Amino acid sequence: MNRDHDIIVAPATAPGGALAVIRTSGEGSLALCDRIFRGRSPLRDAEGYTVHYGRIVDGDRTVDDVLVTVFRAPHSYTGEESAEISCHGSPYIVSELLRLLIAAGARTADPGEFTIRAYLAGKLDLSQAEAVADLIASSSQAAHALASNQMRGGYSEALEALREELLHLTSLLELELDFSEEEVEFADRTQLHDIMTRIDTEIERLRESFSLGNALKEGVAVAIVGAPNAGKSTLLNRLLNEERAMVSEIAGTTRDVIEECVNIGGVLFRFLDTAGIRLTDDRLERMGIERTMQSILRARIVVLLSDAADAAPDGTSSAAAPGLALRPDQTLLRVVNKLDLRPGLPLPAGAIGISARSGSGIDTLRRALRDAVDTTGLYHGDVTVSNSRHYEALTAAREALHNALQGLQTQLPADLLSEEIRQVIRRLGTITGRGEILPDEILQNIFSKFCIGK
Ligand code: GDP
Repeated sequence: MNRDHDIIVAPATAPGGALAVIRTSGEGSLALCDRIFRGRSPLRDAEGYTVHYGRIVDGDRTVDDVLVTVFRAPHSYTGEESAEISCHGSPYIVSELLRLLIAAGARTADPGEFTIRAYLAGKLDLSQAEAVADLIASSSQAAHALASNQMRGGYSEALEALREELLHLTSLLELELDFSEEEVEFADRTQLHDIMTRIDTEIERLRESFSLGNALKEGVAVAIVGAPNAGKSTLLNRLLNEERAMVSEIAGTTRDVIEECVNIGGVLFRFLDTAGIRLTDDRLERMGIERTMQSILRARIVVLLSDAADAAPDGTSSAAAPGLALRPDQTLLRVVNKLDLRPGLPLPAGAIGISARSGSGIDTLRRALRDAVDTTGLYHGDVTVSNSRHYEALTAAREALHNALQGLQTQLPADLLSEEIRQVIRRLGTITGRGEILPDEILQNIFSKFCIGK
């Protein structure tokens, strides 16, 4: 029997809640639930999007009082007939329901199988399916916005628009082949060049958005650097304490590397190498510099902390960081600490004065961190790439497009040029899973836009 047609069942909620939801999907789901459900009327007679109160029974024994939501194909997440049983959240009840449903003929769903079915049914494309997982994992407003935009299809639409344009180009080129004796050029080469260059710009824009998208998803990397005793670990603790509830610790690859995260204004910030921050002065001397340089390389924001005690009376710091060269995509925040010891000390232009110990100035610093991350586009629905698989596909697509552009320059014959463009379409297609182009589609494309008899 084809596993794709099995009725699958799985709990949809994590253990520990007052309620639990068990989900089934597949043709015959409702009749299967009827075998253990006793309500006013059978679920198999119910309309879609209706909820039914009843009991789950095991022979004469009542297991639980439940509510069952009925979904009729194709109007469900998977596109299949489906039921969601809301029961009490006891692990015993959940396992009993699963046992009874399996005894009635369902099988346990594989991980992600509901979403795979949704994809196979054409309810979601690959990038949307991936966004479902991101949405469930999202831990900040920004990560949520990224996933939710991708899931609603904003991204797929942008890619589909590019794909349509490229398909149109291949159809024009392939049309020339049919009329090869007549030496007609349906595809004006200058226009082709313009369109391809515009698509290149668009692909490049998507690729560039990955830097921000990935940072928002994984946490914006921040390095706090400064001389020993400048107050780096005090500052870190201060920032983390402000949002104790949101703090999490991620164990890194080596035992020494610990990254701590804090949510500021809906964006997750990830402080790099916080174990390094806490090294004793002795160890700092031995390995601190190398580690600091590593953190700076990985950081999107570098907080350069100096000690007000080291500042000259005019505010200039004697402990300035010589040769701290940042990339254009990095932001430097100069912060002067321990202002409580030197109240009224003039600050260098652009610097933020704080006292990590008392907490004064920390709000300004938090705002500066948040302002260093531009999320306006994201919240206006701009497409932002956050998935490295997509980034790689876009990179491959851009390479293919450059080959095609080069082919255009070297006056490659229409059929070969068309094949180069098809490579780009295939690369982009791997993102949404619409990689296969049927020759029919190309024909259809020609006829839908052209009047051949004219
Ligand atoms: P690190 O080596 O850069 O991590 O520095 P620490 O955070 O360990 O701080 C070094 C010393 O400076 C400690 O004794 C802190 O209590 C002290 N310190 C940190 N921040 C402040 C501050 O804002 N004001 C004052 N007066 N002392 C501070």
